[in-house]
Amino acid sequence: MKKKTARVSSEATLSRFVKIVGEKNAVRGEDMTPYLREQRDLYRGKAAIVLKPANTEEVAKILALADKTKTAIVPQGGNTGLVGGQTSFDKNAIIVSTARMNRIREVDANSNTMTVESGVILQNAQEAAAKVERLFPLSLGAEGSCTIGGNLSTNAGGTQVLAYGNARDLVLGIEVVLAGGKILRGLRKLKKDNTGYDLRHLFMGAEGTLGIITAAVLKLFPAPRAISTAWIGVSSPEAALSLLNLALARAGTSLTSFEIMPRIALEFDLRHLPGARDPLGSPYPWYVLAEIFGDDETRTRELMESLLAGGMEQGLVPDATISESREQRNQLWKLRTAMSDVQKPEGGSIKHDISVPVSSVPAFVKEATAKVEQMIPGARVVAFGHLGDGNLHYNVSQPVGADKAKFMAKWEAVNDAVHTIVTKYEGSISAEHGIGLLKRDLLAKAKDPVALSVMHAIKKALDPNGILNPGKVLRWKVPGGRKS
Ligand SMILES: Cc1cc2nc3c(=O)[nH]c(=O)nc-3n(C[C@H](O)[C@H](O)[C@H](O)COP(=O)(O)OP(=O)(O)OC[C@H]3O[C@@H](n4cnc5c(N)ncnc54)[C@H](O)[C@@H]3O)c2cc1C
Repeated sequence: MKKKTARVSSEATLSRFVKIVGEKNAVRGEDMTPYLREQRDLYRGKAAIVLKPANTEEVAKILALADKTKTAIVPQGGNTGLVGGQTSFDKNAIIVSTARMNRIREVDANSNTMTVESGVILQNAQEAAAKVERLFPLSLGAEGSCTIGGNLSTNAGGTQVLAYGNARDLVLGIEVVLAGGKILRGLRKLKKDNTGYDLRHLFMGAEGTLGIITAAVLKLFPAPRAISTAWIGVSSPEAALSLLNLALARAGTSLTSFEIMPRIALEFDLRHLPGARDPLGSPYPWYVLAEIFGDDETRTRELMESLLAGGMEQGLVPDATISESREQRNQLWKLRTAMSDVQKPEGGSIKHDISVPVSSVPAFVKEATAKVEQMIPGARVVAFGHLGDGNLHYNVSQPVGADKAKFMAKWEAVNDAVHTIVTKYEGSISAEHGIGLLKRDLLAKAKDPVALSVMHAIKKALDPNGILNPGKVLRWKVPGGRKS
């Protein structure tokens, strides 16, 4: 007979966990609701308790005890993840919230580094860098509530990847607690360190399935002294792509953002975003939001103007406007970052977070849109995102007046069709949001089988009892029969 792994969450066991953090840092019953509800309400979870450790040592004690008692642990930062990775679905599981681990341990302007605990809110990290005239360039819509630990665990992207890379590119060192409670102390500030396997990259993008990140050394960059932001009308994704290449040729790495959105997205803004107005006099089929960082107001603006003039000469830019103030810049960005919110009042939305090679974006949009419109006549494709990274949030809003439930029932069929086209273009089914639960079974189909088997081997080596975020990213069988 197979020996079953015990999954004890008896009061006696729970009280041993609670003792580690203290009763006032344990959340139970109804008070757990904010930790169990995902912000789009896509998932509602359950858990035995939420623990809020104060430091790395307390996390280590929790994981040591969890490994011993075979208790499932779900790490959680700001609970803004979009694939259900931070949600616990097991009434016996413990959510470990990093909310109290929110110290900025050090800002070292000379090394251009910042050492932060994993519960630091992204915006607080950005502000700490700005105080010493540095930039921490990770920037995304949830920055007021997401945490550095969550950003690294999902390898978050955002709006400045074009110039600075994803979250994993912004990390020099990392501190992680492993499943058995051992602490991997890797908080080094070194740019060069070729001493074997680069372990930090194992934990970034692992979505809490290999360890709990407790702190990190982040890279800082010179703060821009000038920023020029333009809202540009274009006729098509092809025109936007040509403009992107023109912009890269003229501005190089000073081009920090190059976002694209279709007219329907702006119309949703105008309908549902208080105070929104069309930045241009006439409508255009597509828009680009481009941003250049520089060290001088005049030079930076001139660079943007010359880029737009070049675009006009080549027939790529019929009209554009450049922001004149910080407030105007914020208004332009709001039109882009409100995208998910303004889709909600339009009814159901079937979502995709995909990437294809940058050069394939126009062909992908054309083919996927034709397919979706054929499957659901009247469906409204709202494909917006980070053109500079080949990453689109290829969202499909329901036809006007359609039944939401019937439309949402087509989620899988539409996903399948869109992802088939993504695969044809050698793209990715998850560009920046991760896998979590939402895309776990999709990953098993889309990922190269050898890569998948290496992922399983790593999981087995680092978490043999399967206590860390079970059921997320990978589906696997824990020794003893328990399914994860
Ligand atoms: C409005 C909005 C806009 C967004 N825009 C973008 C965007 O532009 N680009 C983008 O990439 N993403 C975006 N996201 C999603 C993005 O992944 C998350 O916002 C963020 O990176 C997750 O951080 P968090 O602290 O909320 O993590 P959570 O949601 O709490 O957790 C996310 C995952 O990380 C794990 N985790 C959390 N903390 C730790 C830790 N310390 N150690 C180990 N594992 C941990 C969790 O178990 C879970 O699997 C957006 C989300 C929202 C709501």
